[in-house]
Amino acid sequence: MKNFTSFVKELYETREFVPLHSPVFVGNEKAYLNEAIDSTFVSSVGPFVDLFEEKSANFLGVTKSVAVINGTSALQLALRISGVQANDEVLTQSLSFVATANAINYLGAVPVFIDVDLDTMSLSPEHLRNFLNEYAEIRQGGCYNKKTGNKIAACVPMHTFGMMCRIEEILDLCNEWTIPIVEDAAEAFGSQSNNKYAGSFGLINAFSFNGNKIITAGGGGLVCSNIASLANQAKHLSTTAKVKHSWEFFHDSLGYNFRMPNVNACIALAQLESFSSIVESKKEIFIKYQKFFDSSSIKLINPIDSNLWNHWLFSVCLDNREERDEFLKYTNENSVMTRPIWNLLFKLPMYENCFRDDQKNSLYLEERIVNIPSSARL
Ligand SMILES: *Cc1c(COP(=O)(O)O)cnc(C)c1O
Repeated sequence: MKNFTSFVKELYETREFVPLHSPVFVGNEKAYLNEAIDSTFVSSVGPFVDLFEEKSANFLGVTKSVAVINGTSALQLALRISGVQANDEVLTQSLSFVATANAINYLGAVPVFIDVDLDTMSLSPEHLRNFLNEYAEIRQGGCYNKKTGNKIAACVPMHTFGMMCRIEEILDLCNEWTIPIVEDAAEAFGSQSNNKYAGSFGLINAFSFNGNKIITAGGGGLVCSNIASLANQAKHLSTTAKVKHSWEFFHDSLGYNFRMPNVNACIALAQLESFSSIVESKKEIFIKYQKFFDSSSIKLINPIDSNLWNHWLFSVCLDNREERDEFLKYTNENSVMTRPIWNLLFKLPMYENCFRDDQKNSLYLEERIVNIPSSARL
């Protein structure tokens, strides 16, 4: 462990604190911010918001994207537009950040926790199939849980640490059961599977540009879809559902004030322009970690295909909870920031009564996975 902390400090060329993930600003961030401030358009209307939406949609290969204030609201909007209503069930994983379940909960819907695969740490098609075979039934108007009688209104796979879930298999299954997919691609901007980007598979999907994500807007999120009418609904609902008119205030449904401000879009646009250099730098760091861990008893997590991975957050797998806790204690006491993977969501008071399957893989990973410093160096 002493080797590890000195290795990390050398890697990041510091004798002081090494954070888990800090953003890098080496592009047009300041220039765009100056331009926005000089123009007085700092709030929800402004050219950088439109530009960022256009450029991010082109990058992702989706028909349309809508910039919002954060990833949680992006997910909430995407779920609402996909048709999720109060008392519906939404299939997702318990191995995720709390926002995944909160976005479902905000709509009055209920998360149902399906286990993850050990290698992707993301929603398992095999566990999903088992659940659907046992509980699901197609009726007029969609897929229902025959034990609870509730509608199974959506499925939300999350690409953990940017590593793609088995999205094609999940898509096939959900198509078979007529369940729309909303990807929680918050961590996976720029990750791919079969030449398609994360966030372009589901019906309508969400990204986050929080400060700790691979690119940041300060705070921000994105809803995107290949169906223009759905993205247009996202834009409408994110701008208080105000009907376009030169002076009238008429709002035709319960909308939100979720629109991304122009100042945040300045940062987001500049970060998008830096995306490939950020990933290149992170790839180099990951290769150095691979070499280091080759001769260590600690296992570095490698995604199935690292060429298709955005390299957002690196992690290691310890042998058991005691070793994990020791590793966390030593590294954090020695100014190398490390963090355990999340507490499983069904262990939080808000979600303890939610249905879950055996969760074997999630429980295994929860006890062992630790994130290690993963910032780019530019
Ligand atoms: C970061 C994150 C979110 C939420 O994004 P915010 O921008 O922080 O609201 C949602 N889901 C996952 C998996 C995340 O990692």
